[in-house]
Amino acid sequence: MLMTTLMCGAMSIVMFSVYRSFRREVDGLGHWAAGLLLLVCASLLFGTREMLSPALSMIAANAALAAGIGLSMLGTEKFYGLAPSRRAYLLILALAIAGNGWWLLARPDFSARVAVFSLLVFLFYARQVQLVWRHGERHFSSLFFGALMLIQAVVVLARGVSALLHGGTSVNLTVAGTLAGVYLAVANFMALLLTVGFMTVATRRLQQILERRSTHDPLTQVLNRRGFGDAYAREIGNPRRRRLPLTLLSIDLDYFKSINDRYGHAVGDRVLAHVATIIKGTLRESDCVARFGGEEFVVLMPDMPALDALGVAERIRALLRAPNHAGLPSCTVSIGIACRGSVVEGLEQLLSRADAALYLAKERGRDRIECDACALTADRTRSAAGIDTAR
Ligand code: GH3
Ligand code: MG
Ligand code: MG
Repeated sequence: MLMTTLMCGAMSIVMFSVYRSFRREVDGLGHWAAGLLLLVCASLLFGTREMLSPALSMIAANAALAAGIGLSMLGTEKFYGLAPSRRAYLLILALAIAGNGWWLLARPDFSARVAVFSLLVFLFYARQVQLVWRHGERHFSSLFFGALMLIQAVVVLARGVSALLHGGTSVNLTVAGTLAGVYLAVANFMALLLTVGFMTVATRRLQQILERRSTHDPLTQVLNRRGFGDAYAREIGNPRRRRLPLTLLSIDLDYFKSINDRYGHAVGDRVLAHVATIIKGTLRESDCVARFGGEEFVVLMPDMPALDALGVAERIRALLRAPNHAGLPSCTVSIGIACRGSVVEGLEQLLSRADAALYLAKERGRDRIECDACALTADRTRSAAGIDTAR
C-alpha cells in the first residue's frame, strides 16, 4: 500500500508537470493529472482506517478511488476531442459512494459492496477501452494504452463478478488468495503503468503536432518548403514510382499586392487560405501542395503527364477567377508547368524550370499557363514509345 501511494504521488507530479508544459497542445492532461492525485488521496485514506472510523475512511477512500478513475475517463474523452461525459461521471460516482455507504453502514454486506463498486468502476475503464478502439490510431502508443485499460477493466470486472458469485472472502484483499493477489499486484503496477500509458499517447500526439508545425504553413494549412522537400524525397525514394512522370506546378497570384492595398492584409490572408483550399480541392490524394513564400504555391503531381497537368492547372485558374461563396475578391493566377526530364534530375532543377515557365506566363500578360519546353517533349516521347501516361 505504501509503495502504491509513493508511486501514485511521484506519477501525479510527473503528469502535472507534463500538463503544465503541454496543456495547450494536448487536451485531457489536466484530468489525468488530477485523477492520479485522487488515487494518492485514496491510498492515504485507506491507510487511515486504523486511526479514524474504519467505515468513514473506507467510504472516503473508495470515493476518491472512483473519482480518480472517473477523471482519467474524462481526460481520455477530452484527449480524443470528445466532450467529457460529466453527467455519467457524476451519476456513477454518486452510485458508488451511496452503495458503499449503504452496504457499510446501513446494511453491512461486503460482497454486495465490492460487487457494485467494482462493476461501476469497470464502466470507467470499459469506456476508455472503447475510446481507444474507436478513436485511437493504429500505433503502438494507442495499442499499449488500450491494453492497459483493458487489463484494468478485466481485473476489476473479475473482482466484481467473483464477489457476486462466490461471496466476500474470494475478493477480500486482506485475505491471501489468487484474485486478491492479482488485484493488488495490478493496482500497484497500474499507477505506474497508467502514467506510462498516458505519457505514451500524449508524447505521440505531441510529436505529431510538432511535426505538423514544422512541415505545414499555419495560415493556409498546406505544406511549407520543408514539408514539400520531405514529400518529394518520399516520392522519388519509392523505387516502384521512380520512373513515372512527375509534374510540378508553380503558381503565383497576379497583382496580389493590390488586393492587400485595396482590401487590407487580413482579407489578403483569407484570399491566400482560399486559394490553398481551391488548389487542394482540385488535386488527387497522391498530389501535394505547398506554400513557397508569400503568394506562391507549388504543386507536386506524381504519375501525371504534363498534358493532364495542364487540365488541372486550367481548372485551378478557372475556379479562382469565379466568384466565391466566402465573398472574397476573386483573383487570377499565373502558372508554370515543368515535368521531370530524367530520374537524375533534382528538385531544385525541376523547380527552377517551373519558375522559368511561370515568369514567362507573367511576362506574357499574367492570368495564363505556360509549359516548360521539356514538359511537352517528355509527353510526346512517352506517347511515341507507347508508354501509358494516363492517370
Ligand atoms: P505579380 O503579379 O508580379 O506577382 O504581382 P504581386 O503583387 O502578386 O507580387 P509582388 O511580389 O509585388 O507582391 C507580393 C505581395 O504579397 C506583397 C506582400 O505584401 C504580399 N504578401 C506576402 N506574404 C503575405 C501574407 O502572408 N499575407 C498577405 N496578406 N500578404 C502577403
Ligand atoms: Mg504575385
Ligand atoms: Mg510572388
